[in-house]
Amino acid sequence: MDISQARLKGPLRFEPSVIFRYSKVYKRAIYFEPYLKVQCPRSRIALSKMRMSAHNLAIETGRHRSQSLDDRLCKYCNIPETEMHHIMSCTKFDTLRNQLLAVCRKEIDKFDTLREERKFVKIMEVKTVALANALGQYLVQANDAMLKDAMS
Ligand SMILES: [Zn+2]
Repeated sequence: MDISQARLKGPLRFEPSVIFRYSKVYKRAIYFEPYLKVQCPRSRIALSKMRMSAHNLAIETGRHRSQSLDDRLCKYCNIPETEMHHIMSCTKFDTLRNQLLAVCRKEIDKFDTLREERKFVKIMEVKTVALANALGQYLVQANDAMLKDAMS
């Protein structure tokens, strides 16, 4: 039984994690991942977690709580808090994102001509160490900012 059949026919409520939604898009072959060369352990862990959907974005935490997709909202923007929103458009991280996008323009061919979803896939493919470092820093700093807000 494949995943889509499991969702339709399974006796238990089953929603495939985003790992099924995205990982097959940006992990299409077996190869050594450049992000594994990232020196900063926090960045490397943040990258791994994001790629495996083992993060604390509402799209996943809401899944664990059986919330509807429409209720898994970004607390800053009040729209669904997906990985793509978090990395590409969350207003909370506009300044932080500028640093990431500057690296993307150097590392990803014709980056500015790509559609938003394609940009996201190219970023998440993390094909170079420079991009891995930039994305890792983005994720760590964004996570720190979210934790700080949660504690205040
Ligand atoms: Zn947001």
